[in-house]
Amino acid sequence: MAETVTFCPLCVSRCGATATVEDGRLLALRPAPGHPTGQALCVKGKAAPEIVNHPDRLLRPLRRTAPKGAPDPGWEPIGWDEALDTIATKLTAIAEESGPEAVVFGSASPSTSAISDSIDWVVRLKRAFGSPNFCGYMELCGWGRYMASIYTYGEPVPGVYLPDLDNAGCILFWGYNPSISRLAHATATTAALRRGAKLIVVDPRRAGLASKAQQWLRVRPGTDGALALSVTHVMLDRGWYDAEFLRDWTNAFDVVDGRVVLDLIKAECARFAPQAAAGITGVPAEQIVATARLLWEARPVAFYTWSGLEQHSNATQTVRAIGQLYALTGCIDAPGGNVLFTPVPTNPIDGAELLSPQQRAKAIGLQDRPLGPARFEFITGEDLYRAALDHVPYRARALVNFGANLVMGHGNSARGRDALAALDFFAHADLFMSPTAEQADIVLPVTSAFESEALRVGFEISQDAQSTVQLRTPLAHGRGQARSDLQIVFALAVRLGLGDQFFGGDIEAAWRHQLAPSGITLEQLREHPEGVRLPLQTKHRKYLDRGFRTPTGKVELYSPAFAAAGYPPIPTYAEPSIGPLSRPGLTAEFPLVLTCAKSLFFCESQHRQVASLRASAPEPQVEVHPETAAARGIAAGDWVRLSTPSGSVRARAKLNANLAPNVVVGQHGWWQACPELGKDGYPPFGDDSANLNLVLDQGPSDPVSGSSPLRASLCELGLVLTDTS
Ligand code: SF4
Repeated sequence: MAETVTFCPLCVSRCGATATVEDGRLLALRPAPGHPTGQALCVKGKAAPEIVNHPDRLLRPLRRTAPKGAPDPGWEPIGWDEALDTIATKLTAIAEESGPEAVVFGSASPSTSAISDSIDWVVRLKRAFGSPNFCGYMELCGWGRYMASIYTYGEPVPGVYLPDLDNAGCILFWGYNPSISRLAHATATTAALRRGAKLIVVDPRRAGLASKAQQWLRVRPGTDGALALSVTHVMLDRGWYDAEFLRDWTNAFDVVDGRVVLDLIKAECARFAPQAAAGITGVPAEQIVATARLLWEARPVAFYTWSGLEQHSNATQTVRAIGQLYALTGCIDAPGGNVLFTPVPTNPIDGAELLSPQQRAKAIGLQDRPLGPARFEFITGEDLYRAALDHVPYRARALVNFGANLVMGHGNSARGRDALAALDFFAHADLFMSPTAEQADIVLPVTSAFESEALRVGFEISQDAQSTVQLRTPLAHGRGQARSDLQIVFALAVRLGLGDQFFGGDIEAAWRHQLAPSGITLEQLREHPEGVRLPLQTKHRKYLDRGFRTPTGKVELYSPAFAAAGYPPIPTYAEPSIGPLSRPGLTAEFPLVLTCAKSLFFCESQHRQVASLRASAPEPQVEVHPETAAARGIAAGDWVRLSTPSGSVRARAKLNANLAPNVVVGQHGWWQACPELGKDGYPPFGDDSANLNLVLDQGPSDPVSGSSPLRASLCELGLVLTDTS
């Protein structure tokens, strides 16, 4: 038996861990307190051995023999050479006939899967191939914090300018529950609270750290933008803002069409004075004022947002409104604020230089939403489906997909299935078969993260973490013929004639190139499995030397880019596209607001087959206020039908007195069986389904980003009289 320090890559937390291994088998993972993200591990990380050894793992490349739509795909095992040659031949032929843009690449989210080990190389492959189209959930997961915020700050705030939790006086988590989504942030926040930092949580649920917050704001799903504008109104009205920062480093005092920008902002925010905002958001007026006071008096403020703010039809303006609010604090890149920690110097590997501007301009969705994800080469789920089914703006003919379960992850699952079936060719790499993989022509078996070597440069949450480079050694023998995503990318690149851009297919040579500027060698990393830390120092307030990376060099509260594209140039608020105020005609039949939240026990649509996890969360749940349930004759644990204007699915009722009575919270991602516990799966389609995305639509979506309104819709609950378990 041996122990080695490693890290868990199953989610964005990338927790440092100590692994116990014996004879090529991973026996256990436990925290590694000396590692900068190693204070704790969640249940999913602790279940790593079960994931590795699960009997349902894909072990050989498979080829479909039956036509799409057949009840049984007729999977036939094939060798790797045949699989990779088939993929390369098909992609080359399609590129020759229709251009490389007809081939879409895709992956699971690096925030909620181990694709973070290799995502930059997948993107490099896409660019070297010549395609501008990457389907990677950006419009559902990372748009706001990574990309929409660029239009305000010139760089991703808070996606890359991360909260300096060690030094913050006030921490603001908006639509973010780090206890589930990034455990390393949760442990750092708990430590910050112990030394006296204040915490504000905005969330429709009293989840995670909300119970320890000075202010928990129970916002109606999808009205966060109105809340942000209201808090901004109070701060501007009371003089609770950094006037010097606003004057020198934002465009608040520019004059546009004869009016000072700050006056435009004040007028817009005044529409959401606390009493008015309370009526919209459900957050009491006095709590809005108290939150504004706390943000001002407990500075420095560090904040983070997550997918609670994504998946809304107003996602972009909401993020702009929160970015504006944050600018009032003057805390950007200040100690205890949101800081760009100094990164380890490396050579970039994502191949930005490999894709021509002409190909980049062909990104699907760019014509409809010129400032949206397509500008950054991301294609939304709906845009992929439309290109595959309706050939708009041109036909998407092939998909090369690393692990993304599109059918379960995006709204309108049936349309997703049909779109995948309409492709000429679909290659999918994964650990397990899924409703998405079932539509593929070739399925490739992938090693679990714990069986493959991976290089991690920087762990993000602090300067210490950001300074750490770690080479994760394989902790278990690979199962069957599975190969890592990285091995697949490099082998495919060589077969596509792109070997020159992929170091002749030599992964070690690629890593050496990547690491060269850091001075760190692979030999050093192999000698130190716990990682090597460079003595990097944070330099604060870099904007004093070089300005902000916006076109004007200032924080753009007024966005000239938005004005030019016909969007409201200062942050504004629009009701969710399917809500009680925007669609009053629906409320008689669907009186409840439906949102959704992740489970502690599963990463998105994964892990229901893992017995130790499923035992804690055996069935899909819908959380509902006890009074709302009682009015419908529903008791805790009853099976209920959750109906939306698009259909219905089933779930077990869980009573939650902390919810607003008109809000219910569902869960997405239920399909897998867990034979070990005798738990059947749930069909992704049809009456018996528990797939929330089957009855949620991709639109009407956010006009800037195409974000789908999955987290704010309308629904009704009804008791199912017979137990369907
Ligand atoms: S939070 Fe859990 S799943 Fe995520 S990296 Fe840490 S241990 Fe792994």
